[in-house]
Amino acid sequence: MTEKVLSKQNLNIFINTLLSRGEEIVGVKKKEGKYAFGKIADAEEVCLDYDITLLPPSMYLLPQREALLKFNIAERPVASPVIEANPFILFGVHPYDIKAIELLDTAFSTDNLDTNYLSRREAATIIGVDCLNPNPNAFCPSMDTAFTDKGYDLLLTDIGDSYVIAIGSERGQALLKGCPDTQEATQVELKRKEEERQKALGQYKVALDTPLEKLPQLLDKSWNSSLWEERSEACLSCGSCVMVCPTCFCFDVQDDIELDLVEGERYRQKDACMLVDFAAVAGGGNFRDDKTSRYRHRMYRKGKYIMERFGKPGCVGCGRCASACLAEIASPAETFNLMRGESK
Ligand code: SF4
Ligand code: SF4
Repeated sequence: MTEKVLSKQNLNIFINTLLSRGEEIVGVKKKEGKYAFGKIADAEEVCLDYDITLLPPSMYLLPQREALLKFNIAERPVASPVIEANPFILFGVHPYDIKAIELLDTAFSTDNLDTNYLSRREAATIIGVDCLNPNPNAFCPSMDTAFTDKGYDLLLTDIGDSYVIAIGSERGQALLKGCPDTQEATQVELKRKEEERQKALGQYKVALDTPLEKLPQLLDKSWNSSLWEERSEACLSCGSCVMVCPTCFCFDVQDDIELDLVEGERYRQKDACMLVDFAAVAGGGNFRDDKTSRYRHRMYRKGKYIMERFGKPGCVGCGRCASACLAEIASPAETFNLMRGESK
């Protein structure tokens, strides 16, 4: 599809036009030096040159907690599903987070269709932006997530005084129709886009020593490594690495019953395999009751299990886990490189 160009000033007009039409926009805002996705009320709030957000945009597709059904034993039917999926625009999503959403799409539509997730996903329009200012803990090029040519409705690339806009879907095309003064991108502008991307690639500070497709084999050889125990010794079992991760999607389902014992709701909330009781089972057992096995399990999810199950890596290299970990042991890249060093 043709790529367009829009000046930065006109992008603000575009955003405010969408807001005035009643569109709900969730974009990146800066607060106290940190970046976070939140509801936007004016284009001035939107930040597009961020490095990383504290939490991933996928939290708007898979919330930390959501009701699945309400029940009332005095009524018929006793239970009714709860599906909240109002149209909204996720604005300024980086390519690695777009790739993470693609993984969630696959996970929630394989075998058991997850109606709640898929309804919300259908309601979401994704406007991405290339990450030209990577976080020091990120290793996206190693995970093939630094750039993407799909998974978005529109994708912006900052080329200085304007943005090149790639159109990824008919929905994106329709959205752009309401955008003033877009021009077809010239060869010079497309060249500048490529130059900006190349510059960004040169800024990553962390890289995997192992090719992505060889990670499962590396982990196959590493099950009994003493590094698992050494690395996990400092682990606080806090679960932060999982809670900030765009590719972690495990959840726990519970019933919340009112004191009258008549009404209640069934809800799910995000769970974390690094928490002590994640693998606790009836009868007092726990099949991953030590931090070494939990730590190893998480790394196998990132580099092997998810890839073998869904054909996509279980880690997009965003680096959020490394930033969130007080013990400084959560980075999959660092861990895989140590394993690789040991296996040589
Ligand atoms: S494991 Fe860490 S680096 Fe990989 S996607 Fe999750 S938070 Fe990002
Ligand atoms: S690896 Fe780090 S962030 Fe993850 S549970 Fe352990 S201490 Fe917490």
